Amino acid sequence: MKVLVVGGGGREHALVWKIRQSPRVREVYCAPGNAGIAREATCVNIGAEDITGLRDFAREKGIDLTVVGPEAPLNAGIADLFQEAGLRIFGPSRAAAEIEGSKVLAKEIMAKYGIPTADYAVFDRPDRAAAYIKQKGAPCVVKADGLAAGKGVIVAMDEQAALDAVCSIMVDRIFGSAGDRVVVEECLTGEEVSILAFTDGYNVVPMVSSQDHKRVFDGDQGPNTGGMGAYAPAPVYSPEVHRRTVEEILVPIVRALDAEGRTYRGVIYAGLMVTPKGPKVLEFNARFGDPEAQPVLTLLDTDLVEIMEAVLENRLDRVEIRWKKQASVCVVLASGGYPGSYEKGKVIRGLDQIPEGVVVFHAGTAQKDGETVTAGGRVLGVTALGPDIPAAIEAAYAAAGKISFEGMHYRRDIGKKALKHLSG
Ligand code: ATP
Repeated sequence: MKVLVVGGGGREHALVWKIRQSPRVREVYCAPGNAGIAREATCVNIGAEDITGLRDFAREKGIDLTVVGPEAPLNAGIADLFQEAGLRIFGPSRAAAEIEGSKVLAKEIMAKYGIPTADYAVFDRPDRAAAYIKQKGAPCVVKADGLAAGKGVIVAMDEQAALDAVCSIMVDRIFGSAGDRVVVEECLTGEEVSILAFTDGYNVVPMVSSQDHKRVFDGDQGPNTGGMGAYAPAPVYSPEVHRRTVEEILVPIVRALDAEGRTYRGVIYAGLMVTPKGPKVLEFNARFGDPEAQPVLTLLDTDLVEIMEAVLENRLDRVEIRWKKQASVCVVLASGGYPGSYEKGKVIRGLDQIPEGVVVFHAGTAQKDGETVTAGGRVLGVTALGPDIPAAIEAAYAAAGKISFEGMHYRRDIGKKALKHLSG
């Protein structure tokens, strides 16, 4: 079978890497891909958001299955477009993907179906949002309704920061129409965990838990990024938290979306806060997380293509999904200056010195004059397996130490939160 993966980051490299292991797959294409993906798949120069271009390509090449990495094409309706053309695609419809594309919709559905989340209010006028913030006080969280490339959420520790956030989103309109409405919500405390699950619209199969590291510096300091690393499984996600997550969050959201005429097929991602009162939803995403996909997919034992086909054929209850009884840690190596402005084109050295058992997923890389060079903010995801989290951390950092490029920086504490749990 011929598979097309849409996207060109670390998540898509992990998808290509896993899909290629399937005995059912003969050829893998990736649009647009990157330098690392190009070693394992045929890269096609079509942007992830050019959904008609992708459909035409899939038709011409006779692609049997298209797998969508990022959220933008899903929210633009790539799944609907492919289905109209009779092409098989793994990823939710536009209506289902709106659970990520509109935070207002996500909150309304959670409220209607009693899914635990932070208390909130929605505003389409800045003066009303400001009055509410003054009444409720800080801390609080201000969220732009629409997609804002991971930058639309401001956790405001004081009232002025919350008012400034409303002003930038609704008056200065820094995210355009994504800021037509804002959600102002209660600030939750606890530890965050990401739970991804496969669903065919009815059956829900959670993957191993994982934890992202969004801030740029050690100790969760500095500005937010796309994610500086992740590990799986996350010990904060205890068997009891798991039971409550499945019963109170994952099954109800899949049923709710179906009842709302937004039947969800694909990977649903729940970003949770494990609070003293149990798990509560921070956000839903309509796809694999990046970097979470990297540790999670390296732990998956079952053929991913087999699972995806089961999702598309509404028979997820009939596949057995197995996970390696190991731990996986992914350390992201980033360009100097990221998440602010950064230079590209720096030569990456040491990629040929990676020990066995470690996979280096490429994100922002390109091939130039026979050398691999940086081409984005997040450059590589060094992902190592180990018998447990401490061993995987050691292996990931040992491999990361072999790689260098001008300006490279990375966090030194990926996985540290897990150790706290493990030491009791
Ligand atoms: P992503 O790039 O993950 O899609 P996003 O812009 O959709 O990001 P969220 O994940 O909703 O944003 O929020 C970003 C971060 O803000 C969360 O990981 C969490 O740290 C923090 N956050 C969001 N909501 C709350 C809340 N109610 N209480 C405390 N922290 C919160």
